[in-house]
Amino acid sequence: MKYKIPFNRPFIVGRELDYITDAVAKGRLSGDGEYTHRCQEWLEANLGCAKALLTHSCTGALEMAALLCGIAPGDEVIMPSFTFVSTANAFALRGAVPVFVDIRPDTLCLDESALKTALTSNTKAVVPVHYAGNAPDMEALLTFAATHDLRVIEDAAQALLCSDQDRYLGTLGQLGAVSFHETKNIICGEGGALLINDPRMVEKAEIIWEKGTNRKKFFRGEVDKYTWVDLGSSFLPSELTAAFLWAQLEAAQQINTTRKQLWDRYREKLQPLAQKGFIELPRKSSPNGHLFYILTNSLAARTDLINHLKGLGILAVFHYMPLHQSPAGGKFGRVSGSLPVTEDISSRLLRLPLYYEMSLRDVDQVVRQIEVFYGAC
Ligand SMILES: *Cc1c(COP(=O)(O)O)cnc(C)c1O
Repeated sequence: MKYKIPFNRPFIVGRELDYITDAVAKGRLSGDGEYTHRCQEWLEANLGCAKALLTHSCTGALEMAALLCGIAPGDEVIMPSFTFVSTANAFALRGAVPVFVDIRPDTLCLDESALKTALTSNTKAVVPVHYAGNAPDMEALLTFAATHDLRVIEDAAQALLCSDQDRYLGTLGQLGAVSFHETKNIICGEGGALLINDPRMVEKAEIIWEKGTNRKKFFRGEVDKYTWVDLGSSFLPSELTAAFLWAQLEAAQQINTTRKQLWDRYREKLQPLAQKGFIELPRKSSPNGHLFYILTNSLAARTDLINHLKGLGILAVFHYMPLHQSPAGGKFGRVSGSLPVTEDISSRLLRLPLYYEMSLRDVDQVVRQIEVFYGAC
């Protein structure tokens, strides 16, 4: 079905196709070439991480992180249940048990006060998810992790260029993972990056990235042949992907600013409906305009509102089905305590259309139709 206002629309911001043409002309299409290096250097310079490695997805970056941290069968990894499946899958693939904790209602990020109860002698890592570019109390989380010798892997899929105090999200733990999937702010179709903040992990990360070989060392002339030295896989994107991404990274700040204007418009225009008690709005303002959500008063109201908008050619969607209530979550994971906020939020949260090429008038139109739904105009 074609929507008048879709939920998301992939976009080109400038020179994507020129750079792809250039990559083809240069005769190098596999990964780790010129455009890959440009993107990685941009991430290192703009975020301030020791090393960035482009991956074919944020999922791939999380899988690399699990390998890098030596996550093994029986290990436990604490994470919110309110997240995308890849956060948990990456660790379950290594035989570890995802331990699901609740989120806070103000940030929809992991509730740091739940960490203590979730901790066991098997806990190896914590994975904060920076939902909508927001963060949990990272200072408390990092202190807790340091005290108990846990690795911190930030799922910063939605948080490129969002900061916490004066450091960028994704650079606070040992490792961070970002996404360039077409639903994120900065896109290349499918893509991601692993941010390596602990310099001691860089060499092993390069080996995992290059199929378990010391190929990078070979190219630097540090060894005279390259061979299989450890576990790894093919995590590199091709130069075509990197060339597309480079054009987007050049415009990254402007893309985030444009989205934030749309986000701010939604929140401003929906204020009256919130004041009348029909809906709840995000409590914090958005750092990057990644996603705009409202909370309806019930699951039934959400379903009705989705159908109302759909009938008018507007697609609004919900997420996440809490992982602790999913079939695989039950099989591979463990719940720590009860998760009332997660269960409540996931039944009432509705994401409204938001994409780079959306106009403020489109936003007003969506808002107007929500007002019509509530009979509030
Ligand atoms: C989008 C997303 C991912 C997965 O990113 P891909 O690049 O599609 O693999 C992981 N975690 C969160 C929180 C996400 O929003």
